[in-house]
Amino acid sequence: MRALVLEKVPAPAAQPLAPRDMQRPRPGPDELLIAVAACGVCRTELDQIDGRIAPPLLPVVPGHQAVGTVVETGAAVTRFRPGDRAGATWLFSSCGACHHCRRGDENLCPEFRATDCHTHGGYAEYLVMPERNAVQIPDELSGFSRIAPFMCAGAVGYRSLRLSDTEDGMTLGLFGFGSAHHLVLAMARAKYPARKVFVFTRNPDEQALALELGADWAGGIHDEPPSPLDRAIDTTPAWRPVLAALERLRPGGMLTVNAIRKAEADKNQLLSLDYARHLWMEKRLRTVANVTRRDAEEFLALAASARIEPVVQTYPLEQANDALAVLRAGRIRGSKVLTIASHA
Ligand SMILES: [Zn+2]
Ligand SMILES: [Zn+2]
Repeated sequence: MRALVLEKVPAPAAQPLAPRDMQRPRPGPDELLIAVAACGVCRTELDQIDGRIAPPLLPVVPGHQAVGTVVETGAAVTRFRPGDRAGATWLFSSCGACHHCRRGDENLCPEFRATDCHTHGGYAEYLVMPERNAVQIPDELSGFSRIAPFMCAGAVGYRSLRLSDTEDGMTLGLFGFGSAHHLVLAMARAKYPARKVFVFTRNPDEQALALELGADWAGGIHDEPPSPLDRAIDTTPAWRPVLAALERLRPGGMLTVNAIRKAEADKNQLLSLDYARHLWMEKRLRTVANVTRRDAEEFLALAASARIEPVVQTYPLEQANDALAVLRAGRIRGSKVLTIASHA
C-alpha cells in the first residue's frame, strides 16, 4: 500500500515525510482494517517532525484523524462489519484496568498508546485499529473529507470545551484559530446561544474567517476584547498567548490549554508572569490531554444534530508535505485533509 512515512526525528524540514510502498496490515482478532478515504492533518504531526514528541515507533506513518470504510474485521469483532464507516482518533489503546481507565478517563492511562505515534496512522491507504476505540460515524454525516477533522480537531476541541465548564451566557476567548478552534466556535454557537465568543489570533485571514463563521469579535492577542473572559482556550504553540489569556480572565475565570507541547522559542515570556495580574482572584489554568472515545462520539452526535460543517482544504495523500508546509507557515484556513480518491 502507499504510505507517507516519518523516518527519523527531527525530520528534514523541506520534505519531512517520504513516500513508501508498505505491506498492507492485517487485523488482529479484535481489530479492524480500514480503507482510509481521508485523514486530517494535525499540528501534532509538526511536534513529531520537529522532535518535540519523539514517536517510540520509527519509521512511523503519521495521521490520527483517519476515516474510511471497514474492509476486514478480526474474528472477535462485534461492533463493526465490512462496509461500515469508521474513524480513528489519537486514542489507539489503553490498559482498560487502571484507576483512570475504570473511571472513563482512559486518556490519562499510563499505558495510553497513540495512533500515529505508537502505531502506524492514517497517512496511508489502510490502517488497523482496535474496534474498542474505533468510532462509528453517524449516518447523518456525509463526506469523508469533512468528517476527518472531527476525529482530533473536533473531538479534542469538544473535550477542551467540556473541561472548560462553559455555560450559556459566558464569554469565551479562543486563542489561535486553526483546525480545532474553528470547530469549537461552531460548537459554542450550537450549544450556547447566549454566549459571546472572542477570537484572538495575529493572522488577519484567520480573524476574517472567525468573523465569517460567527465570532462576536476578533483581534490580535494583545487587543482588548469588548469584555473580560469567563473562559479561554489556547491552542497556540507559544507561551505569549497563555499570559495574554490569563490577564484577560475575569475573577474566577479559567484558561484551558489544548496543546500537547509548547515550543521553546518564547518561553522567556513566562518571566513576566505576575501573580496579581495573571493568577490571583481564583483564576484557574488546566490542560487537555489526549481524548476518549466518548469525546469523539459525543462530538459526532453534536456535529450531526447541529449540522456543524468544517472549513476544509483537501490535498491528495502524496502532497502531505505541502499540507504540512502550509500549516507550519501559519496559513491555516480551517482544517487540512489528505484524501485517497479511490477509497472515497
Ligand atoms: Zn491531533
Ligand atoms: Zn489504564
